Amino acid sequence: MTAFDLTDAADEFLAAPLRLTIDLSAIADNWRDMARRSGKARTAAVVKADAYGLGIEDVGQTLYHAGARDFFVAVPAEGATLRAYAPEARIFVLSGIWPGMEAIFFEHDLVPVIASQEQLAFWMSVVAEHGDHPCALHVDTGFNRLGLPLEDALALADDVSRPASFSPVLVLSHLACADDPASPMNRQQLESFRRVSTAFEGIDSSLSASAGTFLGADYHFDLTRPGIALYGGEAVNGMDNPMRPAVTAEARILQIREAKAGETVSYGGTAMLSRDSRLAIVSAGYADGYLRALSGSGVPLRETGIPGAFGFIAGYKVPVVGRVTMDLTIFDVTDVPPNAIAAGDYVELFGANMPLDYVARAAGTIGYELLTSLGLRYERRYIDAL
Ligand SMILES: *Cc1c(COP(=O)(O)O)cnc(C)c1O
Repeated sequence: MTAFDLTDAADEFLAAPLRLTIDLSAIADNWRDMARRSGKARTAAVVKADAYGLGIEDVGQTLYHAGARDFFVAVPAEGATLRAYAPEARIFVLSGIWPGMEAIFFEHDLVPVIASQEQLAFWMSVVAEHGDHPCALHVDTGFNRLGLPLEDALALADDVSRPASFSPVLVLSHLACADDPASPMNRQQLESFRRVSTAFEGIDSSLSASAGTFLGADYHFDLTRPGIALYGGEAVNGMDNPMRPAVTAEARILQIREAKAGETVSYGGTAMLSRDSRLAIVSAGYADGYLRALSGSGVPLRETGIPGAFGFIAGYKVPVVGRVTMDLTIFDVTDVPPNAIAAGDYVELFGANMPLDYVARAAGTIGYELLTSLGLRYERRYIDAL
């Protein structure tokens, strides 16, 4: 391979305006960590939305090799993609099944998560015709999102007339407030779910995603369902995040410019410089999931208003100045020694030095949203787990 081989993936990564490094060994470690925290329960892996934006193929295969045998996706197409990388696993589809989708479920051996009476009625007719196929039941215990009402679920458990070909393998519910361990909602949902779990005795039950897993053994039942914790994100508010960071996003400095005190920066002129400044113009913007809300209120208001985000370069935290634009963001690098950085260098948008959730909070959002907004322009590099 010559230095001029333009197809060399490593060279492409080195030269890319935006790059994303995904540490599969950290994701595998995080899964094993959650498996330890799950005690006697089995530990699934939630890989919906392209594994939270990180790539369902590589991430799915990594988690399968780490030992995961239960996976959750949101829609059937995600399950069909995952099947090639998780041959022996159970793949649960959280949005359930609708008429016309039977083929994809049977062909890829996907397990629909039945969440309403309509879906239940349809599924009964499907198994009456095609014979036995596993399903899961989602029961609502207070979230008011998906799930059969509690009383309907309890009635179904007692219904001796239900067809033999109807064979749920899992009953699940989802906690609304598990990120706040002090919320009384957690106990209330736990009590309701215990009734469901008891009524469906002999069938596995599952209540907790990442945050619920941290609430302790009462919340583990037979299967935990972590997602964000596998990707290094923060699951529980106000707790030190014990997970390994798994993603680093970086973007190139296209130029460094000098600007004078009193000048303004970016659209709207919202940020007025209070001192002569050096500005790094960086090749990432809201089209790359570096959300416009990360603009904050600019340097002069930084001490008084909600601060914007910081990037990280050469050992320094550097603040966003002015509005984030579609393809470009401006960082104040005045406090970085001039010879420490140059055009062409990369600013870390988030990663090991600038935690994902710290950046998310600057935009008034959560790490989940930053990851699933990353967009298509990052050159991706996977650090192998194997
Ligand atoms: C997304 C989701 C999960 C995973 O949640 P995390 O907070 O990312 O761990 C688990 N269960 C259900 C039903 C979900 O929708």
